[in-house]
Amino acid sequence: MGRAAAHRARGDSAGLAQATTGGLAILLLHNTLGRDADSLVSHVAKHRERFTDFDAVETLGIGRGPAQIALTFDDGFRSNLQVARRLHSLGLQACFYVPTDIIGSDQPEVDAFFGRPQQEGVMTWDDLEEVRSLGHVVGSHCRQHRPLIDLSDAEGEDQIKRSLEELRRRLGQSEHFAWPFGSLRHADAAKVVQWCTEADARAASGVRGFNTRERLDSEGYLRRDAIDIRWIGVDIAAFLGRDAARSR
Ligand SMILES: [Zn+2]
Repeated sequence: MGRAAAHRARGDSAGLAQATTGGLAILLLHNTLGRDADSLVSHVAKHRERFTDFDAVETLGIGRGPAQIALTFDDGFRSNLQVARRLHSLGLQACFYVPTDIIGSDQPEVDAFFGRPQQEGVMTWDDLEEVRSLGHVVGSHCRQHRPLIDLSDAEGEDQIKRSLEELRRRLGQSEHFAWPFGSLRHADAAKVVQWCTEADARAASGVRGFNTRERLDSEGYLRRDAIDIRWIGVDIAAFLGRDAARSR
């Protein structure tokens, strides 16, 4: 038995023992290229019952059973379109947080936008329409991809509200926002939550930890765990063996 399998075997029995604790782990991924995407999809297929639609953020902690995992993808990279199709064929809804000003741009613009050469380009508005039509959620990741903490309040509010407006105008709907870089050093979370609330959107961070109704009500933003997709199997095994009650 390999390390991941051993992890999983322990994790499953521990998970069953804690079967009433619930909670939701939200994974934060970026590019989904080649074999990394294959690996992600095969792990989702293998543990399909433990993955939940992103819409589960609305019912946190209400359901019973072991902790669940939802998937999110930041930055709008082109390879995410293929993964959106493959997750759809597994009947799983994910959330794609995209910086609206870069959608549909070419590679040099993408490299300049993120401040360094990227492995691939980004999706187009047509791609995002397809992602939406597959039943996934498309959320905002600001207009640009700058730390909100470096901006004035007026600029920060504009980054959030105008990007949501653009997504709604083009895709008909968008009720989610994740701030770039995700940590509490990169944004004033209370202000982000306030601006999102004013814009009828739910804020998400990159602060690690399980989501429960109690925690979301007190913090106001979703927590997400950034994952290196090259180690997706090990990480999923670890999440399957932990849950909210034991990892606060
Ligand atoms: Zn990002």
